[in-house]
Amino acid sequence: MLKKSKGLKSRLIELKKFDITDIKGSSSDKIKRIIPKVFKTVRKAIAGYKKELAELPKEIQTVPKEFWMEIEEKAAILGIDLIGYAPIDDKLMFEEDHIGGIEVLYQNAIVLGMEMDYDAIDTAPDPPAGVESMNIYAELGEATNKLTNFIRSKGYRAIACHPLGGPILYPAMAVKAGLGQIGTQGLLITKKFGPRQRLSLIAVNISPLPEKIEVKFEIEAYCQKCKRCALMCPVNAIYDEPIVNENGTVTRIDGENCIQYFYETTGCSVCIKECPFHKIGYKAMYYSRL
Ligand code: SF4
Ligand code: SF4
Repeated sequence: MLKKSKGLKSRLIELKKFDITDIKGSSSDKIKRIIPKVFKTVRKAIAGYKKELAELPKEIQTVPKEFWMEIEEKAAILGIDLIGYAPIDDKLMFEEDHIGGIEVLYQNAIVLGMEMDYDAIDTAPDPPAGVESMNIYAELGEATNKLTNFIRSKGYRAIACHPLGGPILYPAMAVKAGLGQIGTQGLLITKKFGPRQRLSLIAVNISPLPEKIEVKFEIEAYCQKCKRCALMCPVNAIYDEPIVNENGTVTRIDGENCIQYFYETTGCSVCIKECPFHKIGYKAMYYSRL
């Protein structure tokens, strides 16, 4: 019933390496308000996880179909823009969740996404883009905690996985949940927002999941022709050809190069800003190909 990592390694994000002292003007005031909220939402998620561990359920709980409608209504009220469902794939679970310390998950997942502001991301790699990334870590973190509490209030068991860090590879889980596909820059690309969203997840001890509606959405052909993110990455961190690892996962980014620049700019986001799925959207991309 409980899922554990099969040994997938994760990259440590060292929050103290984000240098916010260089951020000036209104972005400076905003980031000073946002960072404490990020930490607060992380702490709440950790506290909730510890409560779950204190008395683990013995068997999976069954929910009626209508329950999922309630969840989606509540998620929309909380400002969550994307929602999908998939069983937890333990091969995608990290050996270590550096931020939240989560080691076990229930067997099913609700995958969540929240849009980042278009104009803010369009300033990348300048501070408003990084500040918006942090803002959505805080907002989605809070919404994920609240939706988890809502599920618990209905008598079901749930573990909130914060958007910052996390115990599982969110983009790959989002693909399994039918929310989109992975682009050359390794990010989830959705029809609604392209790569311009942050992701989180709630692991739930409930079943059956709603039936998945298959949506035809192919981006590989676009990526093969485009490669714009790789060209525009300021530190050449995006591989031309992805590396397929022994465990079946795919590495698209030179993580060491990316993370240094990511720290320096408090969140970079150039490969989001430059992606045509962000610039003009999926529909326009689709018709431009005809
Ligand atoms: S976040 Fe920035 S540094 Fe990292 S891959 Fe994207 S463009 Fe390159
Ligand atoms: S910028 Fe181009 S190659 Fe990169 S993810 Fe977007 S569509 Fe694909």
